[in-house]
Amino acid sequence: MTSSTLTEPLAADASALRVAARVADGIHLPEQGLAVQDPATGSVIGHVADTDVVTALQMVGTAHAAGAAWAKTTARHRADILHAWYEELVAHSDELAHLITLEMGKPLAESRGEVLYGTNFVRWFAEQAVRPGGNFREAPEGNADIITRRSPVGLCVLITPWNFPLAMATRKIAPALAAGCAAVVKPATLTPLTTIYAVELARRAGVPDELVQIVTTSDASAFSTAVLSDPRVRKVSFTGSTPVGRQLLGLAAHNVLRSSMELGGNAPLLVFDDADLDRAVDGACAAKMRNGGQSCIAANRIYVQSGIADAFVEGLTERLRDATVGSGLAAGVVLGPLIDARAVAHMQSLTDDAVARGAELRTGGTAFAGDGHFFAPTLLDRVPPDSAVARDEIFGPIAAVQRFDTEDEAVARANDTPFGLAGYVFTQDIDRALNVADRLETGLVGVNQGVPSNAAAPFGGVKQSGLGREGSEEGLEEYQNVRFYNVARRTTT
Ligand code: NAD
Repeated sequence: MTSSTLTEPLAADASALRVAARVADGIHLPEQGLAVQDPATGSVIGHVADTDVVTALQMVGTAHAAGAAWAKTTARHRADILHAWYEELVAHSDELAHLITLEMGKPLAESRGEVLYGTNFVRWFAEQAVRPGGNFREAPEGNADIITRRSPVGLCVLITPWNFPLAMATRKIAPALAAGCAAVVKPATLTPLTTIYAVELARRAGVPDELVQIVTTSDASAFSTAVLSDPRVRKVSFTGSTPVGRQLLGLAAHNVLRSSMELGGNAPLLVFDDADLDRAVDGACAAKMRNGGQSCIAANRIYVQSGIADAFVEGLTERLRDATVGSGLAAGVVLGPLIDARAVAHMQSLTDDAVARGAELRTGGTAFAGDGHFFAPTLLDRVPPDSAVARDEIFGPIAAVQRFDTEDEAVARANDTPFGLAGYVFTQDIDRALNVADRLETGLVGVNQGVPSNAAAPFGGVKQSGLGREGSEEGLEEYQNVRFYNVARRTTT
């Protein structure tokens, strides 16, 4: 068995340092505080403030005060500012992409992809801002007109994870601003710089300085306990793991906050005998390996029908074995480091557990030595369903393949999980594709493709993968209250 190799560890190269310097010029970071590290080298790339609860509550007050004026602006005004923010982000795509790679690790080409994806939410919600959903209806009795209006929900607390530091932030901040809300944003401590820079660009575009407050803190629990019980806060939107989402829903219950929860996944990817093999291998590779597998919609359980299974496994193994692993800044790298040492240890224990239970290791299976957090792209075939890798969210570069015989069996096994974010189906039979998509208990389904997200699509999960939707028309409604006026009419004869 041969495995992929690691390219030479690359300290931030000259062009990355130039970009980092340009960014540093635009944002004011403290000399001390929480250290942000490059996961490829372990070197510190900057510090952010470790905000205490008292300061966080002052920031709540500042955002709340600014929100009163913002809520009264016209939709056109907000749309124009969001368009200007989009232009600023596009003009600084290079800095943003380097910053994402420096603090999160993904290959630069993928960071450029995230910049495109993340900025598209700002453009989309700039366009949606002027399409409010208020409408007019007649009461069926003929004695009243019913006018519905949408108003901003109020001050929002937006909590984001480290895996897409730009897109997870813009997917929340842009609709909040479009709807007329102020926001307190808490990015992940591991990757706060991209969010800080993106919000700085929003200010340059005309977003009032006080309207969006960023809280970086080492004590997320104290932050959420204090801030979510503050009566000025009206909404919490969270992207992250299901256990933390559960805790936040508990805290949100106290003041009955509007809550949006984008939580963990355990996506099944189904390949049927009649699939186009190349397309299925490409799609599985994208769905599994993008972001180093550290994506909530990553293909977690790959189910392949018996007739195509050997060819599929061979094709995917070859792709993973050939993948160049290294610093995301190095040319040709397709798999960067994992976010931290804990993630690497988790990959090792998932692999060891599966192999001990009888899974066949086709490639990878080990960490790379050195300062960075690298784990080889791994393929495990014939994974027993009781392995941890087949039950838990992997969040790393392990493709775990199981085999099936019938469609009913595949669907039953795919749905045998408390999670329901994404699913994938590969088949050339359109009837089968749509029937299986209907039967998958997930919020979204990729049909013959591995990258289903889009700013125009209502992203979100069912079951324990979450509540609410991001992107699309639905993404704006998450930040609006619907009210109605019932206007009595005199009936005429
Ligand atoms: P996490 O839940 O550990 O952390 C997410 C964010 O919540 C971070 O900012 C963290 O600092 C903060 N946090 C942690 N505890 C908190 C608390 N008690 N109060 C307030 N904030 C708290 O998740 P993670 O490791 O950063 O991200 C990985 C998880 O996110 C995976 O489960 C993944 O599936 C999920 N995710 C979901 C989506 C989606 O759209 N459904 C998208 C990306 C990631």
